[in-house]
Parts: sequence; C-alpha cells; structure tokens
Amino acid sequence: MLQVKDFPLDHIGIAVKDLNQATERFRKLAEFMILAEEEVPSQQVVVRFLQHGEFKIELLKSTTPQSTIARFIDKRGEGIHHVAFRVKQIDHEMRRLREEGLEIIQDKPILGAMNKWIFFIHPRSMGGTLVEICQPVTQEK
Ligand code: ZN
Repeated sequence: MLQVKDFPLDHIGIAVKDLNQATERFRKLAEFMILAEEEVPSQQVVVRFLQHGEFKIELLKSTTPQSTIARFIDKRGEGIHHVAFRVKQIDHEMRRLREEGLEIIQDKPILGAMNKWIFFIHPRSMGGTLVEICQPVTQEK
C-alpha cells in the first residue's frame, strides 16, 4: 500500500440556496470571514469561500435550475455536498486512486474555483460521500 504523507482536509463544500443567508448562519457559529467569491461557469455555480482559522467552507449556489447543485438541493435539500482534500501531485494522486479502484468522475484534473486543479471521486466509491481532490495551480503537478 502506498504511504500518503500529506493529505489535509482543504474544505467542506455545502450546497445552499442563498449565499448571504448561509454566510450569516456560519457567522453565528464563529467568526468566519469571506475569503473569496467566484462564478464557475463550467459547473454553473457561484462559490463563496468562508474561512475561520485554517478551516474553510465552500458555499455552492446554483446559477441554473439544471446544474448538479440545483439537482442535489432538489433531491436532498441544502447541506454538505462534498469534502475536499489537498494534495501536492494531483496527476499522481489521480492515477493512484484509480489504481485503488476508486471511480474518478473526470478523465483529468479540471480547473476549479480559486485557481485550483480539482477532480472528484464518485460517491459510489466512498459510501455516499462525494470527495474532491484539489491542488493550487501555482504548484507544479
Ligand atoms: Zn470544493
């Protein structure tokens, strides 16, 4: 089995209907700051990152009724959509996780919000949890 030295939790993605209402909920919980907000047209979402200390939350709001986030909310309501882990060599990790038999949704890493390479592991492979793997574009793959 391969040893993974560095695989920190990067953020938790939460599907929401209203970014401001969701931000207010987390601000009641603790002093979350708005780190960034960005539209990701390829995924038909607007994402807003909240940060508290080292911990980040990615709020995902759909921009169309057909997006995966809109369908997720239709089916299950607002709530946790994915957990994301940060890696240092995303191409290598994609190969390794495929070799482990996990179902990877993308053929190769795609550009996500906040200038990161990302890919997703299908919830079928993870007991119902969608898992994102990400790496800042500024680091060499
Ligand atoms: Zn994410």
